[in-house]
Amino acid sequence: METAPAPVVVAIDGPSGTGKSSTSKAVAAQLGMNYLDTGAQYRAITWWMLSNGIDVNDAAAVADASGKPDLVSGTDPAAPTITVDGADAAGPIRTPEVTAAVSAVSAVPQVRTRITELQRAIAAGAPTGIVVEGRDIGTTVLPDADLKIFLTASPEARAARRGGELAGRGGEKPVDLDATRQALLRRDRADSSRKTSPLAKADDAVEVDTTELTLEQVIECVVTLIEDRQRTA
Ligand code: C5P
Repeated sequence: METAPAPVVVAIDGPSGTGKSSTSKAVAAQLGMNYLDTGAQYRAITWWMLSNGIDVNDAAAVADASGKPDLVSGTDPAAPTITVDGADAAGPIRTPEVTAAVSAVSAVPQVRTRITELQRAIAAGAPTGIVVEGRDIGTTVLPDADLKIFLTASPEARAARRGGELAGRGGEKPVDLDATRQALLRRDRADSSRKTSPLAKADDAVEVDTTELTLEQVIECVVTLIEDRQRTA
């Protein structure tokens, strides 16, 4: 009789446009695991700050308000959800206003402490294992994760993918690839240089350069890494 695979906790980190979300969601669905998009949590708290008139560049004001919103993440990879004070936030968290403000909000230590606690509680409550994607999962949130993966890609490939995503979302204007690339690099610089848990590869993470790979190839590579880890867990 075949036994169920061991429930493993997988951390997938990396900068924007490396295919982290698409890969993590697909892999979790394929392996019957839960999925947590931690970027969506930082975007959701940022949306709340903007909606409630908090100056996102005033770190003290953001810190004071950081405990107020009630954030709930649904971890089904087929239909991940995020609500803020009971309201569906999936659409509003993807606006350019939120994208432009999220790095400032997520650099505030009180915000990170709050969100990190939520993330650890969600990971601890996932009976069939979980894929958690973000920037600091392997280094800070889940340093004891069973498997850590760090996805990279060239800036050109990342800008092209992000541009494709934005175009796919059906904006009115054509996507300016150069502006997308500049904005993406600016956000990565801010995320990598902040004092509290910056974007970084954990020493024990497996690095996968996705520049020359299709999404299907990245998914296959990550599924193989997880299945290998399940066998030894
Ligand atoms: O992954 P996504 O682009 O949606 O993340 C949005 C932002 O949330 C990042 O640019 C970063 O500022 C923040 N973030 C973070 N730590 C994480 C995940 C996201 O600081 N673990």
